[in-house]
Amino acid sequence: MQDGSATEVQTTCPYCGVGCGVLARTAADGAVTVRGDPDHPANLGKLCSKGAALGETTGLDGRLLAPQIGGRETSWEEALDLVASRFTQTIARYGPNAVAFYVSGQLLTEDYYVANKLMKGFIGSGNIDTNSRLCMASSVAGHRRAFGEDIVPGVYEDLEQADLVVLTGSNLAWCHPILHQRLLQARAARGTKIVVIDPRRTATADVCDLHLAIDPGTDVLLFNGLLAHLARVGVVDQTYVSASTSGFAEAVASASADAPSPEVVAAGCGIAAEDVRAFYEMFAATERSVTVYSQGVNQSAHGTDKVNAIVNCHLATGRIGRPGTGPFSVTGQPNAMGGREVGGLANQLAAHMGFDAPDDIDRVARFWNAPSIARQAGLKAVDLFEAVGDGRVKALWIMGTNPAVSMPDAGRVRSALKACDFLVVSDVTQTDTTRHADVLLPAAGWGEKRGTVTNSERRLSRQRAFMPTAGDARPDWRIVCDVARRMGFGKAFDFDGPAAIFREHAALSAFENVGGRLFDIGALADMTDTDYERLVPRRWPQPTHGTPAGRLLADGRFPTPDGRARLVAVRQEGPALAVGATHPIALNTGRARDQWHTMTRTGRVPRLMSNAPEPVIEIAPVDADRQGLADGDLAHISSRHGFARARVRVSTGQKPGSAFLPMHWSGQFAAHAGAGPLSSPLTDPFSGQPELKHVPVRIHRE
Ligand code: SF4
Repeated sequence: MQDGSATEVQTTCPYCGVGCGVLARTAADGAVTVRGDPDHPANLGKLCSKGAALGETTGLDGRLLAPQIGGRETSWEEALDLVASRFTQTIARYGPNAVAFYVSGQLLTEDYYVANKLMKGFIGSGNIDTNSRLCMASSVAGHRRAFGEDIVPGVYEDLEQADLVVLTGSNLAWCHPILHQRLLQARAARGTKIVVIDPRRTATADVCDLHLAIDPGTDVLLFNGLLAHLARVGVVDQTYVSASTSGFAEAVASASADAPSPEVVAAGCGIAAEDVRAFYEMFAATERSVTVYSQGVNQSAHGTDKVNAIVNCHLATGRIGRPGTGPFSVTGQPNAMGGREVGGLANQLAAHMGFDAPDDIDRVARFWNAPSIARQAGLKAVDLFEAVGDGRVKALWIMGTNPAVSMPDAGRVRSALKACDFLVVSDVTQTDTTRHADVLLPAAGWGEKRGTVTNSERRLSRQRAFMPTAGDARPDWRIVCDVARRMGFGKAFDFDGPAAIFREHAALSAFENVGGRLFDIGALADMTDTDYERLVPRRWPQPTHGTPAGRLLADGRFPTPDGRARLVAVRQEGPALAVGATHPIALNTGRARDQWHTMTRTGRVPRLMSNAPEPVIEIAPVDADRQGLADGDLAHISSRHGFARARVRVSTGQKPGSAFLPMHWSGQFAAHAGAGPLSSPLTDPFSGQPELKHVPVRIHRE
């Protein structure tokens, strides 16, 4: 099945990191129908409510159809000339760090690759960051500390082969629905025990065996207690620890000092001691254990420590690199993983190389023949928008994301966008961000563009086109290359399509790979265009030499200088901003079942809107009583940074002193907004990920 065919085309869902395969068909009248691809290993034919409604998102409602300068439609030539000349002038006058790109986990790997190459290799700044900073950065930092590289050891089959699955900071039932269905099917067959760790009683918690409703932000204490318990009762794989890890004694000492007993953990986490003991005993007794973690862990001022507290428990027991075991971070976006592979984060280089290794910088410079490669990490998302606001960054190009709604302290971000000397936005639809653009570039959307994505289990899949591109829209990779050529970097960006870009990306992953980086897809570097079109889903590594590995880390060797994984000694610390007299409620933010990000697609589908047509804040009965709030009231929610309005739902699933508000809504889709304006820009010191899961607020009736 080829691109543009009138028959069914194999592609992938553009929403979450499960990365489901989709079969899409365009009828003669342009109507698009979709069904799950039975041959895609991620979903075996199933789709969730969002994926099943994809055909209803491909209309022209809200589409950007022509380039614009200052709101006036113009030609591509004029728009691209202006972007290239303003970036060139800004760099000449103020230096390369006066410009920046802010990109997206919605981009395809090829788009991401050329954007990263342009900024880091040819402009010479590290200032390219991505909305994955809000999503996965703490997992990346935790993986690098523990494994020496950003490696996700797990695969989806592990959830089906485990006897215990711990879901922490993950509402898998709503945020990764097809993976949750796979887990429930496996449980029906083998009796898998499921533990959910979440302050909130979610749809995932509703069907688990044990729900630990810990106080927000106390995850490190809980997992430190688990590590101390495992050491105390002798459930440690001493052979594995001796041969394959370092830092065990220090990590156990730190954990034991932090969490000396289940009773101390229970008091600190706000749960019953018998539940803590039940969890610890279950984990200790179950060899095949998987711990899945997601944004509830990552979106925290201590997210990296939380990741390492989890990984420590798996390293101590040797439950990693074997079927049905392992720590497993599930990504939010469809291509957050692909972005990490090409170096889309400001503190990473391409192909899992880093700024902390001068050899890596030189290697990438040699491969690209880059004249002025960046030698230092760039600004992470929160710092980047602060630099835009205070004028250090004077020219910004935002690709495929809506920071005016999604960034924490969104009001301040909007002010920064207004103040920016020169703002370019390339996107598929109009958003709250596009209205601030000096130059608007219409990008090809899902169904129109071609490339690859990588899902949460490291599986590369193709996205394929099955409909004509709307208006004058162009694929992102082409827009970036056209600007690069105009900036004088033509030879390095002379790609004739995504296949050529992918081949270069694959070759770079294998180039002088003497350090043994596991991200190596060199075996795909020689693909012809036809091979690329026919590429079937496969996991990395796909090394130049040797056998493609389905099971990483099976040999107990890690890509660190001494070949050992590192247990990291961590201690429980409170949230960045504590609740207090003025802001007594801890607000948690996250996804609604049927919506995606800032709703620029799902918000246009009536059947997805009908389930939850407006933002709803869930609060505990005791807090509702205290404020005189009842179901259906309109609540005014204010934090130190901004305010929002939402309909009230009184819920026994909320712990007293906490509330939950979906992240999706903005002024574009409701008279009252979601969580963006409320959130704090305080970040994790290692990952730069903002603390979106704990925002002190006060709530009263509007
Ligand atoms: Fe799309 Fe995720 Fe649903 Fe699969 S589970 S159909 S990838 S939103």
